[in-house]
Order: sequence, then C-alpha cells, then structure tokens
Amino acid sequence: MEYSILKTAMKILRMYALCDSCLGRQFAMLGYKLTNRDRGRSIKITLLMDAEASNNIDTIQVLSSMGMLPEASAVLQRRGMLHHEQQVCFVCGGVFDRLQEIASRIVDKVLGYEFNSFILGVVIPGWISEREDRVRLISGSTYCENIKSELSRELGKLLVSMLKARFDPVKPDLNIVIDPFSMIVEVFPTPIYIAGRFRKFRAGFPIRSKLCRVCMGRGCDSCGGLGIREVSVEYALMKVAMDLYGCESVKLHLQIDDGRDRVVLGLGRSFVLEVRKPKRRSIDLTIFREKLCSMFEGLIDVGELAYTDKKSIRQMKASFEPEGYVLRLKPMEPMSIVEAIKHLKKLEGLKVKQKYPGLKPRLKAISDLSLQIVDDELVEVRFTSSEPLHTKSFIEGGRDTKPTIMEVTRVAWLPIDTIVYVGGMKYAQLERV
Ligand SMILES: [Zn+2]
Ligand SMILES: [Zn+2]
Repeated sequence: MEYSILKTAMKILRMYALCDSCLGRQFAMLGYKLTNRDRGRSIKITLLMDAEASNNIDTIQVLSSMGMLPEASAVLQRRGMLHHEQQVCFVCGGVFDRLQEIASRIVDKVLGYEFNSFILGVVIPGWISEREDRVRLISGSTYCENIKSELSRELGKLLVSMLKARFDPVKPDLNIVIDPFSMIVEVFPTPIYIAGRFRKFRAGFPIRSKLCRVCMGRGCDSCGGLGIREVSVEYALMKVAMDLYGCESVKLHLQIDDGRDRVVLGLGRSFVLEVRKPKRRSIDLTIFREKLCSMFEGLIDVGELAYTDKKSIRQMKASFEPEGYVLRLKPMEPMSIVEAIKHLKKLEGLKVKQKYPGLKPRLKAISDLSLQIVDDELVEVRFTSSEPLHTKSFIEGGRDTKPTIMEVTRVAWLPIDTIVYVGGMKYAQLERV
C-alpha cells in the first residue's frame, strides 16, 4: 500500500492524543528547515481543511479532541457541536508547551557559575519512552525522531539565547542534566586543568596530605580544623584553588612524587592541578601564584603556570628530563671519610635500571659526579642523572633498582638529606631559599 502521511497521522490521532511536536516528530525526516511543531501543525491543518471540504465531522472532532487543534474546535463551536473534554498529549504530557518554563528553571540553577559554553543532557523517564514506542508502532520508524533528541535540541536553542553561551559538546564549561518531566536539574561544571612546576624548599614538607586520624577530614581541634595531619604541597595548591575558583575539590597529578624528605629546586617539579567543580573559571594565574607564595612563603613556589587540558597529564607523565642531585650520605659502618670517597667514585658513568610505579624499568645514566667532604663523617655527592631517579632506592635498594649505591660501593649509606635540581645541575644556581 502506498504510504500517506495524512492517513498515517489520522490513524495515530484516532488512538492517541498528540501535541503538534509529538505528531510532527513521527515525520521528522521529511521536510527541511522545519520544526516538528511546524510539521505536526501543518498536517493537522491540512487534515482539517480536507475534512471541512468533505464535511467529515468525525475527523474534525478527532482533530479537535485528540489533535488539540484550536481551529478544529472553532469549526465545531460555530456549528454548536463542541462537547469533548480537554485532552493532554499522550507522549509528552504537555512538556513541549512548557519549554520556556523549563529553560527558565535551568537558567535559575546555573546562576552562580561562570561559564562560556555548556552541554545539555536530557533524561527521559522510561514510561515516556514506552509511550513513544506505542505511537511508533503505528507510524513506523522510517521518518521519526525520538523525543530525547528533539527536547535536547529545542531546549538547547532556547538556552543558547537565554544564557548567552555557546553549545559545545566537546569542551563545555558546564554540563547540565535535566529531567523535564520531574523538573530536576543537575549542574556539573567541568574541571579546569592548570599545568605548572613547583619548587619545594623544605625537607619534611610532604607532597600529599594524609587525613587527620581524629576527625577523618572533617576538621577538629587536634588538626586545627584542617582535616589533615599536616600541610603539604597538595594542601597548599588546594587551599589557593578553593579560594580563587570556589571549587569543590582538587586532584594533584604529578610526574613524580618526590616524597616528604626531598627538597625540589631547579626548574621545579611538573604538575597538573585538576580543579573540580569550579564556580569561577577565568582567574589570572599570576594572582594564583602571588596568593600561594604569600600564604605558604618559604615552603613552596610555583612557576610556568598555564591553563591546559586533560591530555597534558599523560604528556607530562611521559616526558623525562635530566635531574641533578645533591645527596648527603653517611657511611653506616665506621670508616675514614677518605676511604668513603674512594668507594663513591665508582658511581661515575654508572647505568642504573629502575622501575617507577606504573612505568616499565628504565635506564638512567649517572654523570658529572663530584664528591665533597662535609665533615669527618658526611660526604656530599653531586651528580646528574639522564632522567628522574628515585634516590632512596638508588641508595638502599627497592623499585627493582640495579645496581644500588650499596652494591657498587659495598658499603651501606644513610641518606641525611637530598636536593633535586629538576632540569639538571645547571639549575643549581637557583639555590635553596
Ligand atoms: Zn507532546
Ligand atoms: Zn582533625
């Protein structure tokens, strides 16, 4: 049988009351630059004119009640034949008539967030989809669109003009989720990523904070309300980010975790700070640095700050630069310091194999060794490694390190302190503060 839009539409309307959008959506692939509402209304009007021409009162009545077409009701009224009750759309229940109201609700919810772009997700309850499927059994699926994509598009258009923001499915600032049937709106600001380097001026100042054992993070007297056991690099960055961005939390991504005991100088350790659920986004990073330096003076400094994206985390983790080390070592067995130096000279030109967590074992070349006597039981060892070295394991073993200083010198050493010059010894002139 030949396909007829008008016959199909009439067949649907005899069974289900449908608004213009929900009827038009059954024929969404037909006609260009039309909204589904245009399609639905055009079909209903054509059916009405056809019915008037053939004086088909039954069809006019269906259009008036199930089609909710005011022009059909007007025809019946003129003839004194309007007696049906007001219907609501079987599929959307009138949601397409309330788009403006729904959009206003979203606009209220996003007040207080700074953003230039957004993406909208529409949640359709299962029972609505089931109803749509029932209509589609009659219309067939050849030309139809689903309610979710129409609602997303129509609400999206309204929001673009109301919010004066871009619709950006790739890199949105705001992820908005709405269930237009329950009017529940959820707003998820996407994270901001800040790349940079930090220098850590003190040993005993940890990279990450452990939760306070007493309050488990809630803040109590014993931790001074911080919720953590002690201030760390992570805490310092988090504190500044929370003040400036009004964020909910942060995650610190590091190329290498230097641990609490190292002093980190030179170019500084690369990091990416993920600022989660920020309220503000366009913060001048020079202000970030100034604030951090004034709040945590003498502990940490940051540089090379730049906004970046998630991809840079992986890039940062995969790029290795040479590093200079200054280790102060004490022999753990009694020996003359001259003898100790003799042992340590064997480190020059060494190739060290070591495994960092999450990475394959890598070879690191030791060069530019220089040894200096600090006092009669302490030696300062300076060298460059072709890439980051876990010095504690290099001294005493661990992380599959081969060989260790202990193996090469046949002496056990106690590390007293460690300074790292990220980028190499040539940055050693940026001395400790
Ligand atoms: Zn509808
Ligand atoms: Zn506490």
